[in-house]
Amino acid sequence: MSSDEAPLTSDLLSPSHALNSLDLPDTADDAATPEALEVRVEDNSKAISHEWKPETIAAQGGGIIDAATGAIVPPVHVATTFVRDADNQYRRGYCYGRSDNATVRQAEHVLSELENGSATLLFGSGMAAATSTFLALPRPAHVIAPRVMYWGLRQWLTEDAPKYGIETSFVDAGDTAALSAAIRAGHTRLVWIETPSNPLWTLTDIADVVRTAHAAGVLVAVDSTVSTPVLTRPLILGADLVLHSATKYLNGHSDVVAGAIVFAKTGALLDSAARVRSMLGAILGAMEAALLLRGLRTLHIRVRHQSNAAMVIARHFEGHPAIAQVLYPGLESHHGHGIAARQMKGGFGGMLSMRFRKGEAFAIASAAKMTLWKRATSLGGVESLVEHRSSIEGLGSPCPSDLLRFSVGLEDIDDLIADLECAFASA
Ligand code: PLP
Repeated sequence: MSSDEAPLTSDLLSPSHALNSLDLPDTADDAATPEALEVRVEDNSKAISHEWKPETIAAQGGGIIDAATGAIVPPVHVATTFVRDADNQYRRGYCYGRSDNATVRQAEHVLSELENGSATLLFGSGMAAATSTFLALPRPAHVIAPRVMYWGLRQWLTEDAPKYGIETSFVDAGDTAALSAAIRAGHTRLVWIETPSNPLWTLTDIADVVRTAHAAGVLVAVDSTVSTPVLTRPLILGADLVLHSATKYLNGHSDVVAGAIVFAKTGALLDSAARVRSMLGAILGAMEAALLLRGLRTLHIRVRHQSNAAMVIARHFEGHPAIAQVLYPGLESHHGHGIAARQMKGGFGGMLSMRFRKGEAFAIASAAKMTLWKRATSLGGVESLVEHRSSIEGLGSPCPSDLLRFSVGLEDIDDLIADLECAFASA
């Protein structure tokens, strides 16, 4: 396909049946038969009421009851292959585990509901979900991404994506003029934003980016890993796609690596991403999907507690003699506070960073003195983590070397503060 023929926003989101080109069965007409209900557990997702609030849907794991046993926690579907019907069809909806899985579908249903999306695809990691989004775009593809973002994806966009015909322009997050200038009419396929973004927690006004991008026929994808659907629902603000590293808050227990793309609409882009997932074998495993479903049940209570604790910790250490700056969207002093106050509902998230007056050596030494805060990468789990980001991001990282990143867990807030005070005093 030449770049002139490649579809823009409206075409990419229009319905298509490309999924069938994977030889997946078309099940729409068969879902209601009693026989199908016995075996197709995901049909219980019809129990989801659109009247329910997201936290109700999450707490009940989508309201899924196993039709065969009445089990409140659905069974884990581990089968990799499925029998055909007598007439050689696959009416029950499943053919092979690399394309689809009932447990994965259950978790996808819950995420679609939480994000107000039409469909969700789950992947074996956040990176698999993100890179599959880009690989699903028509080529050649020009995309726009923020200069400061999750470093792994920035690295892939810089070093790997060009090999797949994907060119990226990096712009400063929130600079609408720079975004407009970077859009190439007829060639730019996607604007990628991350808000709040790692590790400075820069806020981007989603609705503002959507206005600019959609005016040029360009799709908008939001990495909402840090905000979670508890605090921000990008699709309601007009975005086309939401990306999650489900490894973080969605699962929340540091025991699953997973990623999700939630689509505002079904259509060619969803079909194309499902094809990428199937062809690359990037689907989430059934066990991981079951753990993710379990984690999602407590998402709201975890994120609200973590947001509250992060706010207390940020306020406590703002102005501390060892600290040059506390970076937290909930603080009035934070450069993105105005947007955060509009866009994040019910809290500002569980992530914060601190920059130290005595520089990198002090930052690293104080992390080493902490006992409660575990010195490890990742975020969004029930245990509090601390990380010297520029050590892991390496050369070329835009992260200041005097910065520590904190992921606030569910421990007692006073214990967390005491551990930090003690570390800063003895480093
Ligand atoms: N997006 C953000 C904001 C992240 O922090 C991460 C990982 O740290 C990713 C995406 C990638 O997710 P995963 O590690 O699950 O591949």
